[in-house]
Amino acid sequence: MPGKLFIVATPIGNLKDITFRAVETLKEVDLVACEDTRYTRKLLLHYGIHTPTTSYFEHNKIQKGEYLAQLLKDGKNIALVSDSGTPGISDPGFNIINVAIKNNIQVTVIPGPCALIAALVQSGMPTDSFIFQGFLSHKKAKRRKQLDAMGEEKRTIILYESPHRLLKALDDIKDVLGDREIVVARELTKMFEETFRSTVSEAIQHFTNKAPRGEFALIIKGKTP
Ligand code: SAM
Repeated sequence: MPGKLFIVATPIGNLKDITFRAVETLKEVDLVACEDTRYTRKLLLHYGIHTPTTSYFEHNKIQKGEYLAQLLKDGKNIALVSDSGTPGISDPGFNIINVAIKNNIQVTVIPGPCALIAALVQSGMPTDSFIFQGFLSHKKAKRRKQLDAMGEEKRTIILYESPHRLLKALDDIKDVLGDREIVVARELTKMFEETFRSTVSEAIQHFTNKAPRGEFALIIKGKTP
């Protein structure tokens, strides 16, 4: 009998944000595949979980994906976790999930935290219809092209951004999409959580005065007539 691949959501900051089923699954599987074994081990130890871990990240995802697929075919149950939130959303989890599907391995999700959903619901922006664009390109020309393609978008737009590219992204958002309403959600569920609701130009001013630190999700108002 082949094993199962469990996609296990883990906290996006606050260690208490994990489901009973996630803890139970992480205890019961044969192996936990994670982006950073040292980082995930801290979470596992917090919950008294001693399951072996193995690294699965952007730069080993092809070879490691094949190795994990073989273990699954041999009957091992594997839990996939990422550094934070739901594996498969803006992280290498997407690849192993597809390798498993191609190999007829059963894939089961243990749902839980996801930064884009937490940021969206907290923002107060329309939630009935939205788009998630993940990280914008590191390259300015490509980033502006991506934003330009969203110029007519009426739905709420959600982006992920790193602290060192936040101001560049905000500048391009202002130039390409205009000075719209934006919510900058920083370090959600963590000690220095901040939700900054303003226009794009006010956000630029705020984060110019206060250097961006931590993890960011941006919620941008869709185009209004
Ligand atoms: N798989 C994750 C999820 O379910 O959201 C996302 C992984 S992606 C590599 C990490 C990005 O998510 C960060 O750079 C940041 O943009 C966003 N993020 C993660 N945790 C966050 C938090 N606590 N507050 C705000 N944004 C967060």
